Order: sequence, then structure tokens, then C-alpha cells
Amino acid sequence: MNYPGNFYQHIERHALAAPDAPCVYTGSDEVLSRDWLHAMAGRYANALLALGCVRGDRVAVQVEKSAQALCLYLGCVRAGLVFLPLNTAYTPDELAFLLGDAKPALFVCRPSHKQQLQAQLKLPPAVKWMDLDANGTGSLYDLARACVPRFDTCAVDGEDMACLMYTSGTTGRPKGAMLSHRAMSYCALTLGGLWQFSQADVLLHALPIFHGHGLFVSCNVALAAGAGMLFQPGFNVDAVLAALPQASVLMGVPTYVHRLLADARLTPELCAHMRLFTCGSAPLSAEVHRAFEARTAHRIVERYGATEAMIISSNPMNGERRPGSVGLALPGLDMRIADTQDEPLPVGEIGMIQVRGPGLFSGYWQLPQQTQQEFTPDGYFRTGDLGFVDDNGYLSITGRAKDLIISGGYNVYPVEVETVINQMPQVQESAVVGVPHPDFGETVVAVLVPHDMKHAPTAAEVIAWTRERLANYKLPKQVLVLAELPRNTMGKVLKATLREWVVQGKWQMNLKSSHD
Ligand code: AMP
Repeated sequence: MNYPGNFYQHIERHALAAPDAPCVYTGSDEVLSRDWLHAMAGRYANALLALGCVRGDRVAVQVEKSAQALCLYLGCVRAGLVFLPLNTAYTPDELAFLLGDAKPALFVCRPSHKQQLQAQLKLPPAVKWMDLDANGTGSLYDLARACVPRFDTCAVDGEDMACLMYTSGTTGRPKGAMLSHRAMSYCALTLGGLWQFSQADVLLHALPIFHGHGLFVSCNVALAAGAGMLFQPGFNVDAVLAALPQASVLMGVPTYVHRLLADARLTPELCAHMRLFTCGSAPLSAEVHRAFEARTAHRIVERYGATEAMIISSNPMNGERRPGSVGLALPGLDMRIADTQDEPLPVGEIGMIQVRGPGLFSGYWQLPQQTQQEFTPDGYFRTGDLGFVDDNGYLSITGRAKDLIISGGYNVYPVEVETVINQMPQVQESAVVGVPHPDFGETVVAVLVPHDMKHAPTAAEVIAWTRERLANYKLPKQVLVLAELPRNTMGKVLKATLREWVVQGKWQMNLKSSHD
């Protein structure tokens, strides 16, 4: 199937068909209609052109999540500009690198940060500066408000770049993934269909919108289906629990699931209006999946995506939603498990997950060589994730290729060891990393988070537990106990940080109790 034209057409048609329909609910009892959103996106599109931006220019945006920020994003897409969202946690040093790399025509920041950033960043004079606050103040808002709402959505080609999104960069230098209107349309329409989105849905949106999960999988799917969104500034367990009775879908990361489960107010009654919970961006353990079902009577639909490929797989709506699996490849997407020579592997064997299809990015911004390295000669993207597919097509992820531990020549897949450790009754979660070892090349280190720090298992207990269940070379040689694992904003465990702590002995500072 083809996905021509501007992605915004899929949102615009709903605004034109039923302009007064509610679209975005903000926390303050405010209901914004489809027409309001469409008009505001038009005002931003006009404002951006008035600032001198021309088709293809990057608009870098580091602002708080808000309905205004959403309209700015839609305004960029409508105008054929390239939206470049930036994590609000980025430091001036990180921003200097990203803005130097992306060379935007305009940088929109928070009013409270503008003065300091202007002094620190020293961007070329050609870059324009504007600011925007979550509550709808700032120079860009003032300009947009003064512009007319009418705007003829730019007739771009489906292949044109709509967003430049930097990979989360848990390791190495962030790379800008170029995402086309085609990839966004494919993702929104395919997922909307798969997850049976309708105009009756209300998505409880608590994810950040500077990341693909919150922007492409959440906002785009809901808006292209004509559904409403309950737009919350971030994940706050009280606010999410309070809003569940008004919502029908919640999209989250495993951290949300853990936090909801830790709250006694999460009951089947509270979730009675909910139709769907999805989870992704980081592994959700089978135990937590089952615990959520036991508490809410809802089976989470776990799905798997990546900045470069939007969405890759999902458990089905109808059919088995398998705990510990990320489900089936999306319709229209080719997925295979391949060896290091890119040769497809038989069912059940672990290898690199490779994907090809309309949701793929168009390459890394100004990195043609690295782009080429990440694609196979027959056009598959090497995700960097390891996994296997079973007889029924269900995909399980066993870890990142770079997290694979090779100990004494044997492959140790961290997820396998983590799964066994997570089954210990005292353990809430764990992360397994490999650290250099003079004899074995690498050795296995387990870091665990107990339910209660006072009743953490000892290293000897963990090793004995794993010895009963795993081959000798997979056993942790060292066990560390932490109150919580270091994670990025999407809930991904920062394994490189853990390795660094272990190697440099820094873990002693970060641990509440040490190994024995
Ligand atoms: P990002 O580019 O920040 O979206 O990160 C993409 C990576 O997140 C993938 O390559 C996977 O390693 C990981 N990921 C996404 N969804 C899942 C999931 N459901 N289970 C395990 N890992 C996931």
C-alpha cells in the first residue's frame, strides 16, 4: 500500500468532517475541539513561514508538553517543515551538539531557559530564536495568535522528511533519524486499524512528545483515527488513576505499569471503562504482565518499536496476548531473524531482528556511511535487537546485540538470566550486564532491585537460585543490590551506566547495600 502526500491530511479530514467534536482534553477541564486544534496548527504554520522558514527547514523544539506544543508540531507538518523535538532534559552541551548537527532555521525553547541558553549555545546568527511556555505564553505563541488560522496544508511528497528525531542515545553519539510523511502515515493508519481505534476512543496521553512512542504511536494514531486525547503533562500516578474512568486507552512504558501496580487504587472497577492498555519502549516482564491482568482483568498489549522503524510488532487484539513476547510483525512489514551474515535463521533461533517496510526511516541525517552500514543489501534495517520468532510468529526480544555477553566464548543473553532472577520472590526486577574479565573475556554481573531493601537476597542465594535453573556459564559472578535501576525518560535501563559503575567501582556509591 502507498502512503502519498502530507501526513496531516489524515487529521485534517476529521477536523473538516466534524469540527466541533472534542479532540484534546487538558487537565484544567478544558476541552479543545478538532477545529480549535486545526486552526491553531494553521496559525503556527503561518507564524513559522512568517519567520522565514521554508519547506524542508528544521524547526528544533525544546518545550514542555502542552496542547500548544502539539499544535506547533502539527503546524510544522502542515507547512512541510521538519519537526525536531528535543528532550527537555537535554543539557546545554547536548543541545549544542544536536543543534550544531541538525542546523535548524529556528530554535523554540522555554521562556525560562532562553537567556541562559542564548549565552551558552552560541548558535550561528542565521538561527532564529523563539519561545513557548506550557500555559500558552511566549514570543512564538504571541506571533501565532496574531496570525490567521487559514492555511493550505503543504502538498508534500510522501517521501519528504516530516520529523528529524535523534535516537535516544543510551550509548554513543545520537544520530538523527529522518522520518517521512509516508512512515508516519503508515504507522498511524496501520496501528489505528490493528488496535481498533475509533472516534469513540479517548487516549490517556501521559508520555513525552519528544519521543516516537508519545508522538508517532500515541498522538498520531489517536488524531488520525479522530479519537480524543486526555493530554497530561507527564506521568503522575495520581493524575493517571484519576483520569482512567474517562479514558479508553492508555499507552505506557513498563515503569508506568510498575507504578500503577504499586498503587492499591488500581482495581478492575477503576479500569471498567478502559478498552486497551499497551506497553513498550522497554521490556515488560511476563510476571508483571500477569500481575497486571490479575489486578485489572486487562491483558496488556505489548508492542515493540524503534525510532528508526516507528512500530515493528504488536500482540493482537483478538488472539493470544502473550506475556514476555512483543507479538506479531505489523501488517505490511517484513521481519526476519538473521545471523551475522544477514542470512535468515530458522524458527526458534536467536539472531538479529531485521525489518523492511513503509514505516522505516529514510536514513541518518548527514551520515550516509552509517546509514548504509545499518541496512542489508536487500533493504532490511538492522535493528540492533536480538530475538527469536516461534512457530506462530510471536517475537521475543532477548536483548540488544551490544548487550550480548560473551563469556568464555559462550553467548549469554541478559534477558534469559534476568527472567530467572526476576522469579525470585524477593526480587522486583533485575538487569544483567557483562563486564571485562581477564580470563573469560566478559563475566556476568547481576544487578537487582528487591521489593524491600531489608529483605534483599544475598549474592549466594541469587547464585544458588540461578545455578538450579541455568547453565554454569550464565551464572552471575557478582550480584549487586540497588534501590532502583538507572533509566532514561522512556524507562529503558541504562546498561552502559551500570557497566561503568561496576567497572569503575562506582556502584558502591549508588548502592544501598553491597554484594556479599
Ligand atoms: P527508541 O529508538 O528510543 O524507540 O528505542 C528503540 C529500542 O527500544 C528498540 O530497539 C528496543 O531495544 C527497545 N524496545 C522497544 N520496545 C520494546 C519492547 N516492547 N520490549 C523490549 N525492548 C523494546
